[in-house]
Order: sequence, then structure tokens, then C-alpha cells
Amino acid sequence: MKKFADRLIQWGIKEGRTGLPWKDKLNGNYDPYKIWVSEMMLQQTRVASVLPKFNQFIRRFPDLEKLANSTLEDVIQVWAGLGYYRRARNLHEGAKIIVSERGKIFPKNAAEWSTIPGIGMSTSAAISSFVNGEKVALLDANVYRILCRRYCLDLTNSRAKEKEQLMKLATNLLPKKKSEMAQYSQYIMDLGATVCKSTQPTCSKCPVSEDCESFNSAAVHLYPKKVKLTRREKQITWVLTMDRDIILLERQNKKELWKSLLVPATEIKMRENYRLPRKNFLRSYRVKVSNCDLTVKVWKRNCVFDMLKITTRHKVVHKTMISKVPVPRLLEKVLKDFDF
Ligand code: SF4
Repeated sequence: MKKFADRLIQWGIKEGRTGLPWKDKLNGNYDPYKIWVSEMMLQQTRVASVLPKFNQFIRRFPDLEKLANSTLEDVIQVWAGLGYYRRARNLHEGAKIIVSERGKIFPKNAAEWSTIPGIGMSTSAAISSFVNGEKVALLDANVYRILCRRYCLDLTNSRAKEKEQLMKLATNLLPKKKSEMAQYSQYIMDLGATVCKSTQPTCSKCPVSEDCESFNSAAVHLYPKKVKLTRREKQITWVLTMDRDIILLERQNKKELWKSLLVPATEIKMRENYRLPRKNFLRSYRVKVSNCDLTVKVWKRNCVFDMLKITTRHKVVHKTMISKVPVPRLLEKVLKDFDF
């Protein structure tokens, strides 16, 4: 029987995903900048959602220097809609580090890549296997699922000891030749995304089914072990502070829920501090943000902004400009619901 890597690569050449813009080669090599941007976007986001945003991002920030010299606000604005904004901040910070501390030289291996903000073991392995052809195993959600099913493993990918075991198994499956690493990394992710999917895997089309232990024992549905996430209930209030066609927003800090985005300036004091009457209540929204089940109670108040103590944290935004500033998707929806 051919080795796992050989079967995977043969399958990937025919069936792997194509047309990924970050995989366009220049003089036979991948562009490290595009690979890095794509891998950051692909953390927690599917390829289909990343594709349009990646193209928009590259048009706006075509290279490392352009990104490093932009403001964080610009980067977050282009990122808007993709969620998990910490990735945008890390990309921006990473670009500055590569330009100013590394003399514009991209890292040469996974260990160096993992010193760049927001790049963990799996992302550094993916980037380095593509860009440097390094023989290093990636262990993202797709690979984790394949390993658990292939070996009937009850391990989780969050405990250090179990992660170490998984990493050993993933490393054993790598191809012998360095020149095959980029293909291998791409195709194992493709296999997880298109065949060994989290629900209803299509084992009949799987190139590695012959030695898949869960498939051969009709136990695919048992792996990976389901881990129950603990979610928090949280309730917040937004007061839409408006002066005719203008709304007052404020920037969240890094520790707040919508880190670095603009949300309604709820806490700003009016000169005469009074309680909002019940008729100013608009409605409640239920959303999931990170590990929170959130209830957002939305109120509205109209006032003349001259009466308010506006600081540098605030931003006055005209209704025609709302799509140009970085706000959470929920605020876009709220403003749309109330025809702002
Ligand atoms: S045989 Fe099925 S469960 Fe096993 S690796 Fe292939 S798709 Fe996944």
C-alpha cells in the first residue's frame, strides 16, 4: 500500500481546491506576504468567506510596506465583516515588526514565523511549509479531525500533552521529500474541508480510507470526541446618540468585547443627566460574540452634539459614511433596522 502522503498528494493533484489567489506563484515561488495574509484570514474562517476579503485586502495593501505604513483604523476598516478583529491588529503589528525589526525580511522557518504576533504552531507550520518548504506538520482543525478519525483517538487539541501526541502522529505522516511539503500541507487541509468534513464525511471518496481505523470499524461518527464549550451570558446596553443624520460612536479598547471597533457612545454624559424615557427603547438583539451569548438592549436619544463632552475616543459619523468606518456587524444591522 502506498504511503499516506503519496495517496494524499495524488488525490490532491486531481481533486484539491484550485483558484486560490494566494497560491499564485512568482518565479516558481509563493509570495510570503500573500500566504501570511491568507493564513491569518483562514484562522476560524472558511475559504469561501476569505476569498472576496483577501482580494479586497491585497488591492488596498498590495505589499508588506503598504500594510506597515497604514493606520490600524484603515486595516480594520478593510477587515470589517470578517470578524475576529484581533487577526487584523496582529497582521498590522506583524508588518511593522517585519519592516522595522527584520529589515523587511520574512521569517525563514516555522520557529521564526511563530515570533510574529498572532501566529501559533499550526499557522507557522502552514506558512513555512508553503513558503520555505519546511518539513513541519500543521495541526489545524481539519488535520486534527483527520488524525482523530484515522487513529480512533479520543484526544483534544487543547491540552498540551495531547497536542504533543497529535503532533507526533501528524509528523509521522509527512512526505519524505521537502519539495512535496507545500502540496502536502495544502491537500491535507483540502481533504479535511471537502471530504473528511466535520459532518457527513464522504469516506467513499477518501484517498486514505484503506488505513482509516474509524472507517474500517464503522466508528467515524464517534470521532473527534465532542467537547462542550462553556458559554457566558452577557447583557449590554447601546444608546444610539444622534444629532439628526449624525451618530456618535466611540472606539472600544483592546480588552473590550468589540476590540478596536466603533460602537455607540453609550456612556457619554449629557449636560443635564437624565434617565431615558421608556419610549426611547428600540428593541433587544441576541447575538453570539466569541464565547458570549449576548443580549444587546438598544435605546435612542436625540440631542445637539454641542451639549456633549466629545473626546478623542469619540467619532462623529454621518449616516452616509457609516459603511466606511469599522463597526460590528450587529451595529450595521441595528442602524439598517432603524433606517439610519
Ligand atoms: S475514511 Fe472517512 S473518516 Fe477516514 S479520513 Fe477518510 S473521510 Fe475521514
